[in-house]
Amino acid sequence: MTDHLTISDRYEEILGRIDQAAKGADRAPDDISLVAVSKVQSDDRVQALLQCGHCIFGENRVQEAQGRWGERFSDMRPDIELRLIGPLQTNKAEQAVKLFDVIETLDRLKLAGALLRAAEKVGRMPQVFVQVNTGEEVQKSGVMPGALPGFLRDLKTEYDLIPDGLMCIPPVGEAASPHFWWLANMAADHGISSLSMGMSSDFETAIKMGATHIRVGSALFGARG
Ligand SMILES: *Cc1c(COP(=O)(O)O)cnc(C)c1O
Repeated sequence: MTDHLTISDRYEEILGRIDQAAKGADRAPDDISLVAVSKVQSDDRVQALLQCGHCIFGENRVQEAQGRWGERFSDMRPDIELRLIGPLQTNKAEQAVKLFDVIETLDRLKLAGALLRAAEKVGRMPQVFVQVNTGEEVQKSGVMPGALPGFLRDLKTEYDLIPDGLMCIPPVGEAASPHFWWLANMAADHGISSLSMGMSSDFETAIKMGATHIRVGSALFGARG
């Protein structure tokens, strides 16, 4: 990591790389949203990115996101698109529905039920992406690929819910592109148009494979912690 660079330098650099990758794939750069993953980063770093005019952020944990966007940066909140990209416990569904604009990690029916009940109560419903465990890793959350068609069918019949997108986190230490390719195919099979895939080390590959949302943390803010 080149730590002498400012966040503004890194931001410009990444926007340039998104542009290049999009053009290389014959896509419009505007069709790709950069989700700045601010988990564990200091408020100073987040402030620096806000000053660049960036307004799409991703957080992993409801509690941390509440402290930052619900409290310390609550003034900015109306101008921010806030996305939950970490696992969500059913008992935090109401807090998540209040706070987030998009929940990218729906992975079980029980959670869908909790989100819809919370939405009814709170009077707003975030967009929802389904997380797919493309690496079929036991320790990772997400719907197993083989179970996805049934899961989408159940969402529709039981809750009349059609997700806006699919999301995946490929296994560490494996080439990401087969996972991106697979996720893109699953989305196409089900007529789902948004794809959240690609992080600091592989977002250009993800753009090539159709990502509409890339989630970039360390390449933007610097190393975490
Ligand atoms: C932390 C995290 C990211 C960002 O990772 P970087 O490698 O720092 O870009 C993206 N997606 C999810 C789900 C994460 O937890």
